[in-house]
Amino acid sequence: MHYCDHNATSPLRPESLAAMTHALGVCGNPSSVHANGRAARAVVDEARERVAALVGAKADQVIFTSGATEAVFLALRGAVEGSLDEREAGTASRITRLFISGIEHACVQATARRVAEDLPGLRLTHLLVTADGVVDTEALRVALREGKGRTLVAVMAANNETGVIQPLAEVSRLAREAGALLLVDAVPAAGKTALDFSLCDYMVLSAHKMGGPQGVGALIVADGAPLRPQILGGGQQKGLRAGTENLAGIAGFGAAAHTLLGADGERARLVHLTERFEAALKKALPDTVIFGAAAERLCSTSNFAIPGITAESALIALDLDGVCMSAGATCSSGRIAPSHVLAAMGVAPELSQAALRASFGWSNTNEDVQAAVESLVKLAERSRRSPQTDRAA
Ligand code: PLP
Repeated sequence: MHYCDHNATSPLRPESLAAMTHALGVCGNPSSVHANGRAARAVVDEARERVAALVGAKADQVIFTSGATEAVFLALRGAVEGSLDEREAGTASRITRLFISGIEHACVQATARRVAEDLPGLRLTHLLVTADGVVDTEALRVALREGKGRTLVAVMAANNETGVIQPLAEVSRLAREAGALLLVDAVPAAGKTALDFSLCDYMVLSAHKMGGPQGVGALIVADGAPLRPQILGGGQQKGLRAGTENLAGIAGFGAAAHTLLGADGERARLVHLTERFEAALKKALPDTVIFGAAAERLCSTSNFAIPGITAESALIALDLDGVCMSAGATCSSGRIAPSHVLAAMGVAPELSQAALRASFGWSNTNEDVQAAVESLVKLAERSRRSPQTDRAA
């Protein structure tokens, strides 16, 4: 198989597998005081240090969760509810506005909607993006200035569909000036571009997008940022996320983060693979459209369309040739829904229907790129010979 779908999930790195295998052999609850418990605690502590180091945070700011979806939930609901607690404490800092970029992942969009429905007095606003898929910072500046109340802004570090890197330094500056809090979903960006936790108040990571295991992630929270815990019980993780820690998952997450810290060579290789993929596709099929091409993008992601060929037919043809790719957002895969990201960028629905995403990672080689391009070119040529087979209506 030629696995070109790392933004959906990345194969487990050998370093993560080794760390997990070791952790599975540790029989101890990290909360137990005996020697076995302390051995388990050491596994968690090391992973916490490693995850924190990847984004320039402190270890005690890392809260392990069951993945990025839970981390987003904890951040959004926890921040808004936590700000009510602060108000009770007399600081009058209740969050009354949620600003969410129009290209956020479904877990941010859906959770923000639910939190706004559940908590009276909270207003939800979607931030515009440019045609290249970059959050419009001028629109953010104006929105922050208008209206009253403390704001929580959510802007991802880079988009999972297009790979477009967002202007976080500017977003952070505007948020700070306005006294707003900033949540950054760094899931697709982690390990692909430098991340600076000091720019935000909440940052979300997912292990399986960086070569760690599925079902583990983290919320990183700045000192003093409001946060009301959402899962209660045994008081683990300073009471901020109860439940016995997923020892093996956390160990694998830490190992992936550690590997990525020194992975400049891997990033350079990914730039080369992605550029090679796009250049070969454009050469063979010059009408190929690359979304977000004019913006700064992750080294690993190419979101493109071959006009007239639906993503559905392309995915079937690629699959028959042993190439794994995605159409639209993959967390909801199995179902090809129109991309809200491309819609926010103003892409016409017919072209959006043809959108495919190749996302490369640590396991890919030139052969994968070549196989993917050959399969797409073969499909396009066949489709152009007999248009009714593959072309969109
Ligand atoms: N945020 C982004 C940008 C994602 O791409 C995903 C998954 O695709 C998530 C959050 C959710 O991550 P998890 O699978 O760890 O819940």
